[in-house]
Order: sequence, then C-alpha cells, then structure tokens
Amino acid sequence: MDLELVTIGTELLLGFTIDTNAAELARALASVGARVVRRTTVGDEPQAIEDAVRAALGRARFVITTGGLGPTRDDITKRVVAKIFNAPLELDATYLEALRERFQRLGRGPMPEANRSQAEVPRGATVLPNLWGTAPGLWMEGDPGTVVLLPGVPREMRGLLEHEVIPRLRQPVAAVIRSRTLRTTGIAESALADRMGRLEDQLAPVTLAYLPSVEGVDLRVTAWGLPPAAADEALTRAVETLRPALGAHLYGEGDTDLAAVVLQHLERLGEKLAVAESCTGGLVGERITAIPGSSAVFVGGIVAYANELKVRELGVPEGLMAEHGAVSEPVVRAMAAGIAQRFGTGAALAVTGVAGPTGGTPDKPVGTVWLAANLRGEQQAVRRQLLGGRDDIRRRAAQAALDLLRGMALRHQP
Ligand code: AMP
Ligand code: MG
Repeated sequence: MDLELVTIGTELLLGFTIDTNAAELARALASVGARVVRRTTVGDEPQAIEDAVRAALGRARFVITTGGLGPTRDDITKRVVAKIFNAPLELDATYLEALRERFQRLGRGPMPEANRSQAEVPRGATVLPNLWGTAPGLWMEGDPGTVVLLPGVPREMRGLLEHEVIPRLRQPVAAVIRSRTLRTTGIAESALADRMGRLEDQLAPVTLAYLPSVEGVDLRVTAWGLPPAAADEALTRAVETLRPALGAHLYGEGDTDLAAVVLQHLERLGEKLAVAESCTGGLVGERITAIPGSSAVFVGGIVAYANELKVRELGVPEGLMAEHGAVSEPVVRAMAAGIAQRFGTGAALAVTGVAGPTGGTPDKPVGTVWLAANLRGEQQAVRRQLLGGRDDIRRRAAQAALDLLRGMALRHQP
C-alpha cells in the first residue's frame, strides 16, 4: 500500500522544529507494509493545507496528516479536511463529556471553552481517542479517498499511531519493509567496506546501508516487499553473513548504546567504574548515567580540566605533566590509575585531548586524544586522532573511551 504524508506547522517550515513525525511515521508504517511515497510540509495556512491534501489524495488516495489539531487558532486541519470531504462539523457529545471529565480528573478545573471545538467531528469521521492529549485523531473515508488526521505533538502522534492507526492497517499484510541495524565503532566506513568485500553480493534480496555518525558506523540491512516471516528470515541470514566481518567492532544491535554495553560487562564482572575526564568535560559520565540502572556500576568521576586539578585531585605527578604535557600517554595513564585508586574501583576510564579549535601543535594537532582504561589491575592506553569540530571530537572521544573499556572487558571472565 502506498500513501503520502502531509506534516503541518509553520514551525516546521521555519526549521525551528525538526519534522520527526514524518520520519517516525515512515518507519512504523513500512514495518506493516505501508510505503510512504511522498511527504509534503506546509505552514498553518488553510489554503496551503487544502492544496497539499487534495494533491496528495489525487496521487495516493491515502494520506496521513500531523499537526494543526490544537484547540485554538491552530485548529484548521480538521476544518480544511472536512471541507474536502464536504462533511459538516458536528458536536460529539460523548467526546465533549469525556474531555470535561478529563479536565476535572486531572485537577485542571473546568474545561476552557476553547477546548470545545476539539469535540467537533466531521460527519462520518471515526474518532481516534487520544489518551496522551486533548486533540483526538480522526479517520475519514469517502469519495476523495482516506485521510487520517493526527496531532502534531510527537508523543500524542506516536500513541495514536501505535494504538489506532497501525492496528487498522495491519490486517492482511502481504509484504513488509523491515530493517535491522548492526552498530560498530572504532572503524572507518571505508575500512568497513573493505572488510565487507564480496559479502555484500551475498546479501540479496536484502540491501545494506552504511550510516556513519560520531558514535561509529551503523550497518542497516533492509528486506523489501517480502511477507513478514520471510523478511525476518532474510534479515537473520544477512546479519549472520555480516557478523564475522565486523569482529569486535560490532557492539550491539538496534538502538543499543555503547555505554549500556560497557555497564553490562562490568556488572557481569562485578566491578565498579569511575572516570577522570579532561577534554570531554563530563561527557563520559553523562553517557553512563543516561543509562537506567547505571548506579549499580558507576560510582562517579572527576572533571579535571585544569592541570593543577589533575595533579591535586587525581595524583598525576607534576613532573610527568611538565615533561610530556597534559595530552600524553603518561598523563592519561596516571589519570586512570589515580581515579581508580581514589574512588576504589576495579574499572576506570580517563580522557585527555585537544578538542580545538585552538591549542593544536605540530605533534599534537587538534583532535589528538589520549585514552586510558583500567580493569582489574590491567591498564591500556591508546592515542586517537579524531576528526571534526570541537563537539564531534569530544563526542568521538567519549565513545572511543567507552569502547576501549569494552574491549578489555570482553576478555575477562567473572
Ligand atoms: P500542533 O498539533 O500543530 O499544535 O503541534 C503541536 C506541537 O507539536 C508543535 O508545537 C511542535 O512542537 C510539535 N510538532 C508538530 N508537528 C511536528 C512534526 N511534524 N514533527 C515533530 N514535532 C512536531
Ligand atoms: Mg501546529
């Protein structure tokens, strides 16, 4: 089934809000065999919305819109689409009552009159109850085709998509588009492609996409237009074909976070973790504490940005600093050893580097980063030359630090 999306909101056109709804809708719909063939974005203008929806219906006969269902001046999508279907708006007394009750139940006092318009429904439309907000979704079918109206707020859009739209589309799915993602880090896209070599030819009918980011390169395999079970089977075969070529660079699947993988390893080993950060300024700690349950492993860290703090708080010998500079192997090793010792942990990470844009020298250009990891008395240090601006370098450094510790943890048994 082919369909079109129309996302509505002046903020989308201005670029202040990223159109995440369109991306999310396309992904979710593909997985049940509905293919988005075109998407259009328009501002909160009745004529623009009408033109876009009519044009989309002219091509695809099935259109999903998001946005413009708010209670006040935004409330134009419904009116416009009602006009396209020649359907008068009628007050849905049941929905109005439900809205009133909801305001009361949430202790928000009496329902503002502005919300009353949200209970007006084009004749013949199916109301899709919105449990995550006040604007219901609407499903309209008629001569012009089918139009599904969803709210713009991503959380509400998602709720309605999952609970109301997907189930209505799911029935007789002959063919789906499904993907799996393998996450790698510490290897460049080109080096990865070299490793793939002829493997790519063996993947058909599955296709392979390289998706590089500061965290590494994700490999997404996609099966197109197969029945659901066959798609899953083809993807499993593709993943097993690729896996050996990725080796230890493969750290997880789907949206697995490298920090979560590191925490799992350390939990398995029964070790606690502390971090000493210079150029990342706490990013490693942020990545770790973003993972729910990290307190079982992570005890804390020190951001030792100034050299005197590296000496005073981490015990880096002043002589080392003077002789080798703050971005050096001896210093990063001393930082990792110092934080492990002071915080009494079996695992530690340290990062020091030149994030730029200034501060580079011929032998330590911008992007030079030294990383060290401690695990059970063993220590490893590596130098990395990272690419990008200040933000990229810092984020790549945090990722590389986590990966260094993951590599060590892989080789240990509880
Ligand atoms: P609306 O339903 O048009 O009142 O949208 C409410 C809010 O949802 C807007 O202020 C945006 O922040 C957000 N929003 C609307 N459309 C989108 C979209 N396509 N992608 C992401 N966020 C959106
Ligand atoms: Mg809006």
